Amino acid sequence: MRRPKKGFSTRSVHGGELRDKPFSSVTNPIVQTSTYAFKNTQELIEYTTGKVNREEYGRYGNPTKTVAEHKIAELEGGEDAALFSSGMSAFTSVLLAILSSGSHVIVMDECYRRSAQFCKQTLPRYNINVTFVETGNYNQLESAITDSTRLIVSESPTNPFLNVIDLKKVTDIAARHRVKVLIDGTFATPYNQQPLDFGIDLVLHSATKYLGGHNDLLSGVVVGNASLISAIREFRDITGGIVDPHVAYLLIRGLKTFAIRMEKHNTNALAVARFLAEHPRIRKTYYPGLENHASYKTASSQMSGYGGVVSFEVDGDMETTIRFIDALQIPYIAPSLGGVESLIEQPAIMSYYEMAAADRFQIGIKDELVRFSVGIENVDDLIADLEQALGKI
Ligand SMILES: *Cc1c(COP(=O)(O)O)cnc(C)c1O
Repeated sequence: MRRPKKGFSTRSVHGGELRDKPFSSVTNPIVQTSTYAFKNTQELIEYTTGKVNREEYGRYGNPTKTVAEHKIAELEGGEDAALFSSGMSAFTSVLLAILSSGSHVIVMDECYRRSAQFCKQTLPRYNINVTFVETGNYNQLESAITDSTRLIVSESPTNPFLNVIDLKKVTDIAARHRVKVLIDGTFATPYNQQPLDFGIDLVLHSATKYLGGHNDLLSGVVVGNASLISAIREFRDITGGIVDPHVAYLLIRGLKTFAIRMEKHNTNALAVARFLAEHPRIRKTYYPGLENHASYKTASSQMSGYGGVVSFEVDGDMETTIRFIDALQIPYIAPSLGGVESLIEQPAIMSYYEMAAADRFQIGIKDELVRFSVGIENVDDLIADLEQALGKI
């Protein structure tokens, strides 16, 4: 009989770890090595013939990395997980491991800019066909499926408008056509959303964000069933996008407080979103926990919290918005999200600065749009800071 799953915070603290650790240490050691020694040739032969289970070389395995992978797999409710050197390394590896020349992938169009760029620019060079469909348009999604379609890719919630995909609808469509589904759940995290429960095949996270949680590491992870992850891991062990043992330790360390951090991100962001939605100098607030958000119903039915990112449009232009951002004293002006420190950015100037304004407007990225990654500071301080900065525009 399977033991019932322990609570989320218990899994954050203990998940994936051995009870008995080297030297009776309570914390998991960092095995900082590139290679592993064999006592003698006999041991080497036993290893290569599968009689003993151990590590051989750092690109193929590391005990610190393995603990981090098992912890994340437990949090996500998946059989196995593969860690990578960054979220983009995870994303590109999964697509290249699953797709081959002549195959077809469908991507929901509202997504991380580099993911879109990889699909648009790189995959076609390998004769992999890509179709972008409108995010949340399930008819368009189903019509785009062809005999060569292997994979459907979407974020949920999306960046930066926090639209939530109906996971059940997507898996129903995918199952009818025997296509696999990959969800980038970076914004939700396993604390707020468990896509595998809805029949999604693979869940990906930029672990740089909430899983690491402290704005101090880069990593990526993909979770799914053992056979899919094994194929992805094999690809990774050849292409080499592995995570460093020290980063794996930082992830284990950061995940100890994952549940309490996420609780605080969720409550802080909801309070900030409600404050902004009521403020006369804010034109529009995007947060799936607000009743007037397009995804409120879907988010409420398939997520247990709405996450820590709030996007909004200042009532003004590019210059007004710059004045507002520069007047803030607590959030740092920085890309990225998901850490304990609040970060704020104006996408028109930060993540989309290379894009022509006309193209940017077409995907809704206005000059006055702001993305706020709400940290775990005291929410009264964050709101007072927003209030004083809005008073200066
Ligand atoms: C940051 C991010 C990525 C890329 O992750 P890196 O760790 O920066 O490589 C991919 N998807 C989403 C949704 C992200 O926010």
